[in-house]
Amino acid sequence: MTRMKLAVSYFGCRIPRHVKQDMKRLRHLGFERVVHTFSENDLFYFRRTMKDIVAISQDAGLEVQLDPWGVGGVFGGEAFSRWIIEAPELAQRGASGRPLGAACLNNPGLHERMREWTDAASQTGAEWIFWDEPHWAHRGPANPDGECCVCERCRREAAALAEQGSGSNVMRDDFVHAPKAEIERFRTRSMVNFLKNLIGHAASCGMRSSICLLPRGTGNQPDLNWIEIARLPGVAEFGTDPYWQAFGIEGQEKRDRFIDDHTNAAMNASQTAGIQTMMWIQAFRVQGAQEDDLLTGTRRLLSHRPETVAVWGFEACAHMSSLACENPRRLWRRLVHLLGQNASDPSTP
Ligand SMILES: [Zn+2]
Repeated sequence: MTRMKLAVSYFGCRIPRHVKQDMKRLRHLGFERVVHTFSENDLFYFRRTMKDIVAISQDAGLEVQLDPWGVGGVFGGEAFSRWIIEAPELAQRGASGRPLGAACLNNPGLHERMREWTDAASQTGAEWIFWDEPHWAHRGPANPDGECCVCERCRREAAALAEQGSGSNVMRDDFVHAPKAEIERFRTRSMVNFLKNLIGHAASCGMRSSICLLPRGTGNQPDLNWIEIARLPGVAEFGTDPYWQAFGIEGQEKRDRFIDDHTNAAMNASQTAGIQTMMWIQAFRVQGAQEDDLLTGTRRLLSHRPETVAVWGFEACAHMSSLACENPRRLWRRLVHLLGQNASDPSTP
């Protein structure tokens, strides 16, 4: 059995001397990697600071991944997008005509801005990009009816694909009313194309890519072929975040199946692609009464022994009220203890 590398996400503090203390502490606790969020806000206002933060983290002995947190509304994270306000034509548009709270994955303007974001990320000196839960607009306040994008760009792309034989006449002539299965295939294909472009550009900047996909069946997303995505050129690591509590999976049996199925599928995709696996543990919004359940599920996930296990996020998110666990100090202490016990190679004395 191999040892597991421990990682944790870090966000919400841009004061280098405080970050320095925290990074040293993380290294002392046995973490070897930190995932720093690099939101649009950071891109606009903290470019040099982020470079300092990356250097501080590396000096503390941590490997760094940067996360496009909430960027364009198409990645996971509690951060707003200014891009879709500055350039409303980027936004996804539902059949009702409503602009949705995320940029369209087919919009070349988003691809261009993501290349600029990636350039900025590479200039910080970070080794990796962590592509965090790429998604079409979720059902939610910015998409109350769970609509799919039918913007001008999507219609043109769908028509062009239909012309080439990859789609029916309805896709060409009346995209809005195309069969759901065809629209889902189109959304899948667009996502793969988006990721391929991002990862290719990151590789040309000398950065490795880690991809974290949402668990299957969550967030109203089309079904993606994990092996296909793990095999995209430039992907060095693949994983998912089976946060059973956050995704409302209740009952021990369902919990265990959710963890096993997703961990097996992620590890299978990585192994098929010849890359490594990174799996996430929920340490946000965990209620006190749910702590034991969280730790039991975590033990189960650890028993699969993915190469890297990561915690979202630092100190069980104590500093961020909307994400904080009910008793973050206690949960963080228990989790760090559990991870420390499991991280080393059990075959080594
Ligand atoms: Zn669109």
